[in-house]
Amino acid sequence: MPEYVASVGMEVHAELSTQSKMFCRCPVAFGGEPNTRVCPICLGMPGTLPVPNRAAIEMVLKTALALNCQIAMTSVFHRKNYFYPDLPKGYQVSQYGETNPLGYNGYLEIPASGGGTKRIGIRRVHLEEDTGKLMHLPSGGSGVDFNRAGVPLMEIVTDFPPDIETPDEAKEYLAQLRHILVYLGVCDGKMEEGSMRCEPNISVRPVGSETYGIKSELKNLNSFRSVQLGVAFEVRRQIAALATGATLRQETRGWDENREASYPMRIKESENDYRYFPCPDLVPMKFDEAAIEALRASLPELPLAKLRRYRESLGLSDYDAGLLVADKDWATYFEQAVELGGDPKAVCNWMNGDFAKMLNETGQSASASKVTPAHLVELVRLIASGTISGKIAKEVFAETFRTGQAPAQIVEAKGATQISDLGAIESAVLRVLKDNADVVAKYKSGQTSVGGFLIGQVMRETKGRANPQLVREALDKALEEA
Ligand code: ZN
Ligand code: MN
Repeated sequence: MPEYVASVGMEVHAELSTQSKMFCRCPVAFGGEPNTRVCPICLGMPGTLPVPNRAAIEMVLKTALALNCQIAMTSVFHRKNYFYPDLPKGYQVSQYGETNPLGYNGYLEIPASGGGTKRIGIRRVHLEEDTGKLMHLPSGGSGVDFNRAGVPLMEIVTDFPPDIETPDEAKEYLAQLRHILVYLGVCDGKMEEGSMRCEPNISVRPVGSETYGIKSELKNLNSFRSVQLGVAFEVRRQIAALATGATLRQETRGWDENREASYPMRIKESENDYRYFPCPDLVPMKFDEAAIEALRASLPELPLAKLRRYRESLGLSDYDAGLLVADKDWATYFEQAVELGGDPKAVCNWMNGDFAKMLNETGQSASASKVTPAHLVELVRLIASGTISGKIAKEVFAETFRTGQAPAQIVEAKGATQISDLGAIESAVLRVLKDNADVVAKYKSGQTSVGGFLIGQVMRETKGRANPQLVREALDKALEEA
């Protein structure tokens, strides 16, 4: 049996986080009573005229710039004609052509398996509108909810021939893309609510072959995991079919989450079937260089660049930096603390350690919690200066988390400052040795492993406040003299 290599193209639809729909003033939201956010325009009534949403166009341009695309300085909308009950106008306003989409010919970088990055070519980033939703009614029969009809939708398609070759790369591409969209604030990236939808197309061909295999397109993937599982399943299915000498069909297949298998849905339409033509109701969009450059300058630092900076200028590990960058607000919080003078490594350890754990347990976000970046910086300084021990710091942090009181205040109120007074530590050590004569005897007979127990007893004696370094020294000295 020949060895096969897979090729995966990715088509992603992202609902834009605008206030209103693409061509009318109906609000954009998730859920709610069916058909309550509709008007004659998004219902496609005869005689109505669409007015493009400027914010949506800017969001697509920003995305295209972030994905290193060329920008179409003149760009038109087309009608993509097909009949389906969820499409009230009988066509979807979309953008056709190779260099007409707002963005084309770009790329996105994903972390490569062997370190470094891999470039995934992007063919197009275009603007269109979403359709309504068919619903199966409890009373039997079906209904259509047009609340989603006309919501601004961005479509991002990877290049051909595809750069993605494995299910892992497909998942990573989607994860990076989602990350970028969320960072740009153009989409909330909620795959489970359908505001970000991914339809990969998959083909396999024998290693060394120049000819791409017949591809299938997968639908109904509503998590990163399904994307990864779905692509892996299709690769296996196609290889198995080819091995038996079967011919594959170009088709659209659905993903059955429960069975973790794909099933045939329909034979794929070809572009001719859609009869694309420029929408006569919408004037061409024209952009000038200055406006595009202003948008480019307004882009935030993107996740991968941030990760690199945390690693290279702040000295964080890939893992630590990854945890911080995973969420934009979390990264912003970290940067605020560093800006206030917090040691990056120490701040990062508290954030990814106790802080993350407590936020998780209480279901809060960092910005909504009572701990401010300034609190974290203060705590880290109290430890670095030797004012409190690491052990006490944990208690102090927990209290700041609970009450919002500043760490320094808590330390003062509790009298929890670290004991660095050698005399006090020495007398605590002597008390412990006196109370544990049997253990001291063991130590003297060569069982030095009991030293840890004695240190623990001294820490207990001082309620965790003794400077551990000094305790160790004092104990060593006292044991020698005992
Ligand atoms: Zn409307
Ligand atoms: Mn589309």
